[in-house]
Amino acid sequence: MAYAYDENNIFAKILRGEIPNKTVLETEHSLAFHDIRPQAPVHVLVIPKGPYVTYDHFALEAEADEIVDFNRTVGEVCKMMDVQPGMGGGGYRMISNAGEAGVQEVPHLHIHILGGRWMGRMVP
Ligand code: 5GP
Repeated sequence: MAYAYDENNIFAKILRGEIPNKTVLETEHSLAFHDIRPQAPVHVLVIPKGPYVTYDHFALEAEADEIVDFNRTVGEVCKMMDVQPGMGGGGYRMISNAGEAGVQEVPHLHIHILGGRWMGRMVP
């Protein structure tokens, strides 16, 4: 079964420049921007520019250069937002919600980077 990508999702509109965003970093294949409803002092979303719905979709179908670029962007954002543990930052939490059970609101792959406060213990 193929992954179905909805071209009208909010992040597709952000990528097309139809909706503004507060960009943290833009690279050839990725965009990082502040979440509109931040859950922590640092709450940045990192998305690939390609039409991927979930992390598994991206991991299985993206080109190697897109995957490297996306992962490097996540690392660069942690550095820019000063949340790297052991490097002066206090640490962070990285989450990617997928699908209905994962309670994914926007059907374009995004990784949340949350930090700047004690994140609490994850409840499995
Ligand atoms: P999800 O539940 O899909 O993992 O998270 C979607 C995230 O996107 C939420 O944290 C929500 O606040 C954020 N979001 C939704 N619409 C917009 C928008 O138009 N701009 C930005 N910057 N973030 C958005």
